Amino acid sequence: MTDRPAPRRVVVAGGGTAGWVTATALARQLGSLVEITLVESEEIGTIGVGESTIPTARAFHEFLKIDQQAFMRASRATFKLAISFENWARDGDRYLHSFGTMPMRTWMADFQHFWLEARARGEAGEIGQYYLEHEAARLHRMDLKGDPKLNYAYHLDASLYAKFLRRIAENDGVTRIEGKIANVERDGESGDIAALVLEDGTRLTGDLFIDCTGFRSLLLGQTLGTPFEDWGKWLPTNSAWATQSEGVGDAYPYTRAIAHGGGWQWRIPLQHRMGAGFVYASDHMEAQPALDQFLATLEGRPLRDPFPIRFRTGRHRQAWVGNCVGIGLAGGFVEPLESTTIHLIMIGITRLLQLFPFSPDCAAQRERFNELSQNEIERVRDFIILHYHLTERDDTSFWQYMRNLDVPDTLRERMEAFAQGAQAWQSTNEIFRVDSWIQVLLGQRMTPQGWNRVGALMKDGRLKQTMEDASRMVANRVATMQSHQQFIDSYCAPKEG
Ligand SMILES: Cc1cc2nc3c(=O)[nH]c(=O)nc-3n(C[C@H](O)[C@H](O)[C@H](O)COP(=O)(O)OP(=O)(O)OC[C@H]3O[C@@H](n4cnc5c(N)ncnc54)[C@H](O)[C@@H]3O)c2cc1C
Repeated sequence: MTDRPAPRRVVVAGGGTAGWVTATALARQLGSLVEITLVESEEIGTIGVGESTIPTARAFHEFLKIDQQAFMRASRATFKLAISFENWARDGDRYLHSFGTMPMRTWMADFQHFWLEARARGEAGEIGQYYLEHEAARLHRMDLKGDPKLNYAYHLDASLYAKFLRRIAENDGVTRIEGKIANVERDGESGDIAALVLEDGTRLTGDLFIDCTGFRSLLLGQTLGTPFEDWGKWLPTNSAWATQSEGVGDAYPYTRAIAHGGGWQWRIPLQHRMGAGFVYASDHMEAQPALDQFLATLEGRPLRDPFPIRFRTGRHRQAWVGNCVGIGLAGGFVEPLESTTIHLIMIGITRLLQLFPFSPDCAAQRERFNELSQNEIERVRDFIILHYHLTERDDTSFWQYMRNLDVPDTLRERMEAFAQGAQAWQSTNEIFRVDSWIQVLLGQRMTPQGWNRVGALMKDGRLKQTMEDASRMVANRVATMQSHQQFIDSYCAPKEG
């Protein structure tokens, strides 16, 4: 029997969502195999946005044994069943990209083929009525019981969430240090990071350094000089105004993504407030008109002054270099549209746990980590470009640019496959399922020329009947649910006193 190895010393630089998710997961999963120190600077603070998630957050919380009710209460969270895309293909359009799963499929053909067949015969309604989450979102309903169960994600207050995770991580043995990193020392021979030196002279040495310093990318970018691949030509939005405002009316169970002339705006309903932001491309819109439009369209009273954010879309091609791994914004950023960064943080840390460098020689693990991360973020990139590119809008220079974009080949291939034969697929290591692709492709008004005609073989009105049964099942199930607001009030509102 071998002895238990000496703990690997892990230093996490940064205490935003990425930093605390990382520290919590490493501490929970690796216990005494690691010794974790997290350094963060209150003076620098966090980016202050990033409050909408996708359903994978649930599995991640389960894996960390985080109690859902406690988490939602502490983070003033609400449920998210969909994103409402407004004004995207045409001004005035609206569609929901829900987290639903298709009601039927066969090995030969996914649901959209049967639906298109039935639709062509006038025997099917809108695609959304066959998705439970779509209908629950549309009617502002929620519950956690019943069958089938809803597939949901969360809206959360990012700073409360970081505090919640911090409590867990510190309980699990993570040491938090408040301070500003002034210098990063490298090993003269290997070039690896040797220590972080704080402004007060404290020197933090470690075996593995996780860069969670946000867009600064202090370790991976600034110190190690890891090249950044800029995706600005495909995703030119690079600026945002963000604020928090009073909620107006009941919290709805979806994020709103409302397109405007130079980008889009978000609305994220939480229990105690609304998160709101206005994303735009500075080549097509100036800051002041963006702010004016943002304030003019805000529904509730702002609770803080709007603050500007500059960002760039793209990624460091290698997220793990030497003994440094970039997680969160420090590693790369696609665009907030489909709210994928928290997912990318969680999947990044899950992957790191699987490939954790217990011995110094870990080049193969590093390579695998980088390859998986690259594939995943590129598929997210393609999916987001799709929303902008597949549009009939040409009312501003921004939409003209996006419409005429030369998209990545990987996306072009998908668009052609859907346009010609209604084909859609989920690649290995891709987060977006066929359901997501078809809801967005159809929502952006792409009409397939053909589809798999296997549904035409169904005899005696069976196709029509199947469609009716599927939508009736959805409607009946939704009718048993509470309103989302009532559900939140009884399930996870803060306790009195
Ligand atoms: C406009 C916009 C909207 C977004 N919306 C979403 C969304 O809805 N959903 C989603 O999943 N993601 C969203 N994101 C991404 C989201 O912001 C990130 O997922 C999340 O906030 C994680 O950020 P982070 O922890 O990587 O960086 P940050 O929050 O920036 O944290 C960086 C940390 O590093 C510390 N730090 C930096 N430099 C130093 C130093 N020298 N010394 C010590 N500490 C230092 C800071 O103090 C801070 O603690 C959005 C991003 C943008 C730009």
